[in-house]
Amino acid sequence: WEQWVENHMQLALTAGEFEVYYQPKYEPSGGRLVGAEALVRWNCPDRGMIPPGKFIPIFESNGFIMKLDDYMIARVARQQAEWAIQGKKAVPVSVNVSRIHFSLDHLAEHIVRMIDSYGAKHELIELEVTESAFFDNKQLLVDTVRRLRAYGFPISIDDFGAGYSSLNSLKDIPLDVLKLDAEFFRGDDVMGHGRTIVKEAVRLAHQLDLRVVAEGVEQRGQVDFLAGIGCDMIQGYYFAKPMPLAEFEQRVERDA
Ligand code: C2E
Ligand code: CA
Ligand code: CA
Repeated sequence: WEQWVENHMQLALTAGEFEVYYQPKYEPSGGRLVGAEALVRWNCPDRGMIPPGKFIPIFESNGFIMKLDDYMIARVARQQAEWAIQGKKAVPVSVNVSRIHFSLDHLAEHIVRMIDSYGAKHELIELEVTESAFFDNKQLLVDTVRRLRAYGFPISIDDFGAGYSSLNSLKDIPLDVLKLDAEFFRGDDVMGHGRTIVKEAVRLAHQLDLRVVAEGVEQRGQVDFLAGIGCDMIQGYYFAKPMPLAEFEQRVERDA
């Protein structure tokens, strides 16, 4: 499989087989659509839709993830510029920037150049950094994040709570959004500890001036709970799965 992926990835990129799917983010109460995350899908003519779990880890180990991330950032920037020209409602879209991207010296300038070539508004493109990126060159990461924020791009910490150094990273890195990992909303919460942790994490985040997105929320009861504790946004199947552009545009018309 790895061999197949390596043999096909470059051609697939050139041929436009990687597609941007949009997963909406909703306000917990009121159900307004207030943003989205861009997620890649590999639409392969021979093998059909390949989910990211099957190729992202391979791209991460062979470095191709940098090309894919750039492609996604460019596509989202182009889309935001197009929506603006068409006079459509503007919703911020977040893009994943993989861990190894943060080993580059001039990542912030590289990203701003890419986005500016389409003329998209910076505040409408949010960059997601996974918690795991905080283990590498921390000083470089802090520096890059500062520069990106100075250019006006909101920064979120992705999969918060899934790794090891979460609380620590909040101290050192200037962020805008905290994305609570989906694991908090899996399994049953017999002792109620899960709810306590989520509630206190939201409170902590708010005290640090961060907005909170709860990821992977599937049930009505969880939505009500999150609304009750003031969680800012929900991204999960309860509201919507990742979807192609045309469908997302209809959602925005209806719900934003
Ligand atoms: P992620 O960044 O944590 O993205 C959220 C994942 O959770 C998505 O999986 C989404 O479809 C899934 N999800 C959202 N709500 C629910 C829910 O209610 N229930 C369940 N069971 N799942 C939910 P997806 O699209 O398969 O992506 C998996 C991972 O692949 C992403 O996790 C991200 O780490 C990576 N990925 C996807 N696109 C890109 C990309 O363009 N660049 C990079 N670097 N990584 C990407
Ligand atoms: Ca993400
Ligand atoms: Ca995540």
